[in-house]
Amino acid sequence: MYDLIIIGGGPAGLTAGLYAARARLDTVLLEKLAPGGQILTTDWVENYPGFPDGISGFELIDRMKNQAEKFGLDIQSREVTRLDLAGETKIVHTDKGELKTLAIVLATGAFPQKLGVEGESLLTGKGVSYCATCDGPFYRDQEVAVIGGGDTAVEEALFLTRFASRVHLIHRRDRLRATQLLQDRAMASEKIHILWDTICNRITGETGVDGLDLRNVKSGETSHLTVQGAFIFVGYSPNNQLLDGLLKTDDYGFVVTDQNMQTSVSGVFAGGDIRSKQLRQVATAVGEGAAATFAAEKYVEDLKAHREAAGQTS
Ligand code: FAD
Repeated sequence: MYDLIIIGGGPAGLTAGLYAARARLDTVLLEKLAPGGQILTTDWVENYPGFPDGISGFELIDRMKNQAEKFGLDIQSREVTRLDLAGETKIVHTDKGELKTLAIVLATGAFPQKLGVEGESLLTGKGVSYCATCDGPFYRDQEVAVIGGGDTAVEEALFLTRFASRVHLIHRRDRLRATQLLQDRAMASEKIHILWDTICNRITGETGVDGLDLRNVKSGETSHLTVQGAFIFVGYSPNNQLLDGLLKTDDYGFVVTDQNMQTSVSGVFAGGDIRSKQLRQVATAVGEGAAATFAAEKYVEDLKAHREAAGQTS
């Protein structure tokens, strides 16, 4: 029986693991792929404190993993397939058998939805981005496109006007889905140019983005737009397949917690991109991973004290 099982080995899970190992909780971290999570898909991270010249996503994760392992964190390569959260003892079913634990930190993260067009995969990290906060500053005085029409797309388009000389907002309908306030701001911005009823069929370029092939869905007219960056915001999905109906999530399926990362199920905590929140970044993920383990530690201590008082051994 473990004190704590951490599910997911991205920045949130690795930080949760570091805190658990240093607190001497009997812990295992389960990761279905190689540890790292989404940040492995980016070349360069410029906004994580402590690295004024930036750091590669790979190196940042390598350092986090080494630091956690230095304090004895056990990281196992397993996919969690099902959870039984009903009792005080939680059962974690994996592709290599089941494990029992008193507490769980969920750090299964999320992923940006792909547009699914030619050129997107090839040019991801080379002009195709899913995060303006991360990559916006690379496009100072350049023209970029934002694809999408919801709150995130419009917010990110507005953010990009701080750097880019022009932001082309490409939306497949004739009205935006974003809240009115954001729409008003976008319309008022001299730098934002909205292309209505337009879809992107292909992202062009060999070693970096040089443009987009577009089609107007009403007229059928095709065109080419020259841009150096393509920011895609057509949805962000939580890795929540395990959680169906087990605990409280928001309308988009992200896990709702209190400020101590406690979910609606006692003994289950969540941190990082899987949480319902506004800012999904490494800096927020690591803070929440730490807070989740801190809360889990208190929970396990109390539970053990309670069990001891009641004369239970397991
Ligand atoms: P994730 O990184 O998503 O990690 C979750 C982990 O859980 C994954 O490794 C996954 O394999 C594992 N997992 C999921 N389900 C299971 C399961 N059932 N069993 C076992 N393991 C499971 N942020 C920044 O701060 N700066 C940047 O420059 C930046 N650039 C980015 C660029 C891109 C292209 C993307 C996509 C994101 C970027 N981000 C950036 C955001 C940042 O990567 C995330 O906010 C951060 O990785 C979230 O960490 P996490 O640990 O919560 O989740």
